[in-house]
Amino acid sequence: MSAKPRYRAWFQSLSHDDERYALEDVVYTDREGGLLQVAHDMDELAKTSAAEWKRIFEGRAHKTDWPYGSGVWGKKEWVLPEIENQHVVSMYEGHTNLFWADRYGRQLGLEDLWLKLCGNAHTGSFKDLGMTVLVSQVKSMRAKGVEIPAVACASTGDTSAALAAYCAAAEIPAIVFLPRGKISMAQLIQPVCNGAIVFALDTDFDGCMEIVKQVSARDGVYLANSMNSLRIEGQKTVGIEIVQQFDWEMPDWIVVPGGNLGNVSALAKGLDMLVELGLSTKRPRLVVAQAQAANPLYRAFQRGWASYEPIHAEPTLASAIQIGNPVSVHKAIDAIQRYDGIVEEASEAELVEAAVHADRTGLFNCPHTGVALAALTKLVRRGEIRSSDRVVVLSTAHGLKFVDYKVQYHGMQLDGIIPELPNPPIELAADYDTVRDRMLREIETRFGG
Ligand SMILES: *Cc1c(COP(=O)(O)O)cnc(C)c1O
Repeated sequence: MSAKPRYRAWFQSLSHDDERYALEDVVYTDREGGLLQVAHDMDELAKTSAAEWKRIFEGRAHKTDWPYGSGVWGKKEWVLPEIENQHVVSMYEGHTNLFWADRYGRQLGLEDLWLKLCGNAHTGSFKDLGMTVLVSQVKSMRAKGVEIPAVACASTGDTSAALAAYCAAAEIPAIVFLPRGKISMAQLIQPVCNGAIVFALDTDFDGCMEIVKQVSARDGVYLANSMNSLRIEGQKTVGIEIVQQFDWEMPDWIVVPGGNLGNVSALAKGLDMLVELGLSTKRPRLVVAQAQAANPLYRAFQRGWASYEPIHAEPTLASAIQIGNPVSVHKAIDAIQRYDGIVEEASEAELVEAAVHADRTGLFNCPHTGVALAALTKLVRRGEIRSSDRVVVLSTAHGLKFVDYKVQYHGMQLDGIIPELPNPPIELAADYDTVRDRMLREIETRFGG
């Protein structure tokens, strides 16, 4: 197969077939303000057989042949086929581990539960998958003379970390707008360290989004939020990668926490391509899990999709999904309907206890993964998910980015939560007999018959 870009991609309006833009155009929505999506020349892609695509993707994985060793760029023809390799800004994202959560699965009554640890990534969340694509495209556009003074995003913490890192690697100015006091310390320090211009604004995510839309419309700053469908192209590889990791077999269910709802839209878009190009025939069912405090999609699902209304999102420990007006809601509803999906919600107590109980089995969950695990628990109890079903939970960020709620939980200081499994450190004098007595007592009470 030649490496020449015989494959093509463009921005496509979701509602008007004839409304298209080049990927070099600075454009985020169609004429009516609807989202765009990146469309591919599927006829050309279909000239390569499913077996050949599998061989190509497998042959590139984990190798250092730039940039194809990346989980995203190993699928370059399906993602951003026309970009020159020298303009790709990659930190070898993707290829995150997918593992059998045997013990936790058994606790829930599941035999075949898997976790996809998307947070085991360069900046600690799945956002790297989309940002490598967006920043690469910006680098390519700047090289071709398109005037882009800077790239900006509003963020609940992880998008800004990814934007700052990829822009720093490419020497492109990055600007981030964060809701002051509403993101974790780790998330705040990431763009600071990577040299982004960091604004902490007295508002929530939805308020930051309004500001970034204005600077992109008025000041020509390039918009890096998932409203920009280039991000979706990278994020869609997670679904393809999961299926590849199962030797091209689809699981029965994929559970994902949802805030702005770009990720679930992306997941479905990747799975669509697998089916359309014949790499798979089956489709999994999707579950979107929302925090009760920020659940506009859940409410619409409860109404049988009869109506959808943005809401004012209340504070939640799952701060990366504290979003009341999700930008990709219509793409997400379409994806959920096509994948026979379910939307579930989790209260603060439910998300914390789910994360903590799963931590006890060797995991280390961020609160958003806690939301997904709590939703999963409910669906298993209701009998919607059966014990033999193969279930994949997308863990969206690394737990180490969100230790505050764990510290407070185990210190029994988490507001409104009476912890079920607190495990505070035992503070004792450094005296052998005292330590020994306590040690034997702890072994007996915790693990004794
Ligand atoms: C961004 C993010 C989400 C939500 O993804 P959306 O695409 O906004 O639905 C969930 N978890 C974490 C850790 C995130 O950073």
